[in-house]
Amino acid sequence: MSDNCIFCKIANGEIPTDFVYETQNVVVFKDINPQAPIHLLVVPKKHIETLNDLNDEKLSAELINAIQQAAKKLDIKEYRTVINTGKSAGQEVFHLHIHIMAGRSFTWPAG
Ligand code: 5GP
Ligand code: ZN
Repeated sequence: MSDNCIFCKIANGEIPTDFVYETQNVVVFKDINPQAPIHLLVVPKKHIETLNDLNDEKLSAELINAIQQAAKKLDIKEYRTVINTGKSAGQEVFHLHIHIMAGRSFTWPAG
């Protein structure tokens, strides 16, 4: 738990949030400012600042599994996943999270 980290507060229940999916170490919830009809965030409960700070293989696997389980639960088979790492890449919340977006078409490469 890191002070003043919004995702720590969501993940540990300090800010009441509906979880689409939850395990002992991971939560999945809706993004507050969705960029697609479905926009979820997959978040480790432990405060890890960026993908560069993730060095736990079991947790890495749990995060990937949570993507699959959340997609299954919402019955989406086509979706985009994004991890912004660092300010210039667009990271605004410095608690690791994986975006899952679905329900519209995406172009590649993204702007
Ligand atoms: P980033 O730009 O760091 O990759 O993404 C941060 C994401 O977190 C943004 O899409 C933003 O809308 C979302 N977000 C920021 N604050 C909150 C919040 O308090 N609750 C939820 N559910 N999402 C948030
Ligand atoms: Zn945090």
